[in-house]
Amino acid sequence: MVRISLMRMIAGLLIFLATNSISWAQGSTPKQEGKLRIIAFGAHPDDAEYKVGGSAAMWASLGHQVKLVSVTNGDIGHWQMAGGPLAQRRKAEVLAAAKILGVTTEVLDIHDGELLPTLENRKLITKLIREWQAYVVISHRRWDYHPDHRYVGILVQDAAFMVTVPYFCPDIPFMKKNPVFLYSSDGFTKPYPFVPDVAVALDDVFEKKLAAIHELTSQAYEGGASGSEEYVRSVPPADNPEARKAWLKERWSRRQGDEANRHRELLVRLYGEEKGRAVKFAETFELCEYGGRPNRDELRRLFPFYGK
Ligand SMILES: [Zn+2]
Repeated sequence: MVRISLMRMIAGLLIFLATNSISWAQGSTPKQEGKLRIIAFGAHPDDAEYKVGGSAAMWASLGHQVKLVSVTNGDIGHWQMAGGPLAQRRKAEVLAAAKILGVTTEVLDIHDGELLPTLENRKLITKLIREWQAYVVISHRRWDYHPDHRYVGILVQDAAFMVTVPYFCPDIPFMKKNPVFLYSSDGFTKPYPFVPDVAVALDDVFEKKLAAIHELTSQAYEGGASGSEEYVRSVPPADNPEARKAWLKERWSRRQGDEANRHRELLVRLYGEEKGRAVKFAETFELCEYGGRPNRDELRRLFPFYGK
């Protein structure tokens, strides 16, 4: 009996060491005193960058620690190529973007288009949130257009309570304080539309976000799964990067400008009349009802962008 429990202890220790060294290799960074830790999940290697990239750069510029996770490897996300080479290409793209944004990034090795809300994946998402020791967790809503987006939303919602349950995935320390969970923006209205509680002005980091998106060539300039030869011909060519960047800026100015205009009153409420009216570009987020329930002051501590 004694020998068996000793063997169990050694096995437990080995599992502990293995999981911790794996998380280190995947880009976990040690917790820094007084700094926030944010983890944002997207379904594909571009979603978190598109939806949260500007806010991520804002947090990072203040020394906070941000991790962007792509829950699938994006290996069917192109009209012309697929499989391992595309997964590798897309991973390289988000690594380059992360460098510009000043964040950590991770791409999970799950096939694009095949993500399911399984128990195994619920544990995986729980583990990632716990290991990052997140204060803030961001994901898609579960009403988004793509099944992978919807299931990321469900998986993160499913983790929103389980991260605090001691004997769910007991080999990874549970969270004593439940993080605040938020949804990134989308335009879907059924069963109900996106109604943000937080808006972040991107004007100071807009060029940085553009520079990051510029690295996501397979999506930003080749159209991803919805692209075509005609589409690529309609975009300024790779050997004219300045024209490409101008083209990208035009599209994203419209996109992020529309987001600011749609939620102008929220911007005014958060930034005050003068600054709120002047904001050109914004990202917005809606509080999830599960997870931590922040009051106004707590929300301002987690999004430290509004001044006094
Ligand atoms: Zn996507």
